Amino acid sequence: MKTGLISRIQRYSTKDGPGIRSTVFMQQCNLRCQWCANPETIKPGFNVFWFKERCRQCGSCVQAAANNAITFAAPGEGVNIDRKQCSNLLEMVDICPYDAYEKVGKEMTSRELADLLLRDKAFYDESHGGVTFSGGEPALQAEFITQTAQHLKAAGVHLCLDTAGNIRRDKLLPLVDRVDMVSYDFKAFDPEIHLACTGVDNRLILENAKAIAATGKPILARMVIVPTRNDQPEDIRKRLDFIHSLGSAVQQVDILEYHIYGIGKYEKLGMPYLLHDLPPVQRDMIAQIKQYAEDIGLKATIGG
Ligand code: SF4
Ligand code: SF4
Repeated sequence: MKTGLISRIQRYSTKDGPGIRSTVFMQQCNLRCQWCANPETIKPGFNVFWFKERCRQCGSCVQAAANNAITFAAPGEGVNIDRKQCSNLLEMVDICPYDAYEKVGKEMTSRELADLLLRDKAFYDESHGGVTFSGGEPALQAEFITQTAQHLKAAGVHLCLDTAGNIRRDKLLPLVDRVDMVSYDFKAFDPEIHLACTGVDNRLILENAKAIAATGKPILARMVIVPTRNDQPEDIRKRLDFIHSLGSAVQQVDILEYHIYGIGKYEKLGMPYLLHDLPPVQRDMIAQIKQYAEDIGLKATIGG
């Protein structure tokens, strides 16, 4: 049976589709959004958090690291980890006596995942909720999601696919066919802005949005607004016009303010955080975006 790599499961979520939901964050993404709040999910394969505050500088990982890739930092400052050189970083999860390393990711079969998710079926039923596959990019594990969806559908669970859409259409559309609704991110309209913000341009993403809309599958459109990155008024208007052009498949557009909740994870992953010192999101600007969305006939929410 096909196994999947799951980064984590968020139970009782009310932000990832209708009702109370379990959100399954899959490991691996093919975008590099500068504002990503789940950077631990980007890497293919397992990832490792390192918690500086737990380190007692005992030296166990320094001795065990391949290629001398872990060295002592200044007293009280833990260790320096060269993640590119450290080919056995995952082993440190067991080697460290103080739990300073934590493994990210768990392999499960689709049956195991479905059974785990079905434990909360009463909550889904009562709230008209269900399960959302998110990430990372869940469509990168399409076969596994398809199998899990089959199990959950057999039990009558409402399913949502939360995708950035940067996937070959012949892989994406069969997956869309398995779920009840799609949550779709519109990070920019201009390909150059999209490229600068996420590492890829959005031509395929926009074409895929049209293809999904043409199937009639309900779409929950999402737009995160990040100051100085994708908050150009003209681009926002074009994004909303494009969403509107998708027609009646679009149920709603959620306008999301950029937040820094994920910032602490970057340090634990040894990744640079590129958005220090951003100006705050202008509340009146968010209100204007909502107003424009409503003026052109979209149902819009803030903060979704
Ligand atoms: S094994 Fe753990 S406590 Fe010891 S130096 Fe490494 S991170 Fe610090
Ligand atoms: S698509 Fe989502 S998971 Fe992937 S990098 Fe962007 S914000 Fe992060």
